Amino acid sequence: MSPTHDVIVIGLGGMGSAAAHHLAARGARVLGLEKFGPAHHHGSSHGGSRIIRQAYFEDPAYVPLLLRSYELYEELERATGREVATLCGGLMLGRPEARAVAGSVRSARQWDLPHEILDAHEIRRRFPTLNPNDDEIALYEARAGLVRPENTVVAHLQLATRNDADLHFNEPVTRWEPLPGGGVRVHTAENTYTAGQLVICPGAWAPQLLTDLGVPFGIERQVMYWFQPTGGVEPFRPERHPVYIWEDARGVQIYGFPSIDGPDLGAKVAFFRKGTACSPETIDREVHAGEIQAMAEHMSRRIPSLPGTFLKAATCMYSNTPDEHFVIARHPEHPDSVTVACGFSGHGFKFVPVVGEIVADLALSGTTEHPIELFDPNRLAAAPA
Ligand SMILES: Cc1cc2nc3c(=O)[nH]c(=O)nc-3n(C[C@H](O)[C@H](O)[C@H](O)COP(=O)(O)OP(=O)(O)OC[C@H]3O[C@@H](n4cnc5c(N)ncnc54)[C@H](O)[C@@H]3O)c2cc1C
Repeated sequence: MSPTHDVIVIGLGGMGSAAAHHLAARGARVLGLEKFGPAHHHGSSHGGSRIIRQAYFEDPAYVPLLLRSYELYEELERATGREVATLCGGLMLGRPEARAVAGSVRSARQWDLPHEILDAHEIRRRFPTLNPNDDEIALYEARAGLVRPENTVVAHLQLATRNDADLHFNEPVTRWEPLPGGGVRVHTAENTYTAGQLVICPGAWAPQLLTDLGVPFGIERQVMYWFQPTGGVEPFRPERHPVYIWEDARGVQIYGFPSIDGPDLGAKVAFFRKGTACSPETIDREVHAGEIQAMAEHMSRRIPSLPGTFLKAATCMYSNTPDEHFVIARHPEHPDSVTVACGFSGHGFKFVPVVGEIVADLALSGTTEHPIELFDPNRLAAAPA
């Protein structure tokens, strides 16, 4: 029996929805299979906001991908009319030697990205909500800002559907296998599908769906907190307040956003990393009083007005690789028919549109012109679990 689709995409979260769009836009007959509904809150792509930035402290190798991602985010907004990105500026704060600061400066210089270095006095003057120590500085990047994850996912799904992608929600994949003569077979509770190519964008479900990839994923519970600042959100509006990542002397990073959801919904803040190990089945979705207290205490000296009143919190999952770099590649065990995009290690959302483009390249031609050497799963094959 001939396959009904060219490409099956498993998982229509951040990465899978972008992949479905780029594949369908190139004329592929796409079937998307998603365990939950569109833009759901059970994985890694929810919570209203994600930081985007170009002076990338994690590694300068990400910068060309970010430049392309920004172009594609703009195209996404134009094509759908949805509000996705807000470039309110961004600060990377800490001592000069902090990774968030020194790494950002390195990327900015290497790629000649517009940026400013501010001392503590200048930070306080320009951004009066912030109260750095005298020995702290910041890299300010005017082109940093935020994207809205749910709007991004919905926009990509909308464009995929416009190009006739067949998207099935609430239809979890139970297993998949390569076929001896080429192509793949994918099973759900009710159906079996075949296609020439398979794309797997599993988020925190990578350990279940990618058992033979050889990557020891660590799934991590993360909490996002919303506080109503003392004195209201006016000083936190995106016209005057940047996104920020703030690293302390111990290397602990927090990050936060301006107030984007109206006067009663406060501003969001969170710890970057420092989560607890979990799985999608065992994650504790309750946020406990001690955690809220710890977040408020950490903020109280740095952004004294922010932890005014606690409003709400929500959990989310990171899918970490041992070196915190992504995995985007042809599956080493099934290089002719399976492409994987996973292990985004808590910093993937800003790359969603370019990952969609890369995955479409890999699935349709086996190769891509984007620089993805850093994301080869073979680098992790020997890493301990
Ligand atoms: C609290 C938090 C803050 C973050 N902040 C930032 C940030 O500021 N900037 C940034 O760039 N990144 C950030 N990230 C990281 C970023 O959000 C993730 O890297 C990104 O969302 C991962 O997308 P994904 O497609 O891999 O996962 P998901 O969006 O979770 O998608 C995976 C999908 O696969 C589906 N699926 C799984 N198993 C099956 C199955 N068997 N059958 C069918 N479907 C299946 C799931 O239901 C899900 O929809 C943050 C993440 C969190 C949790």
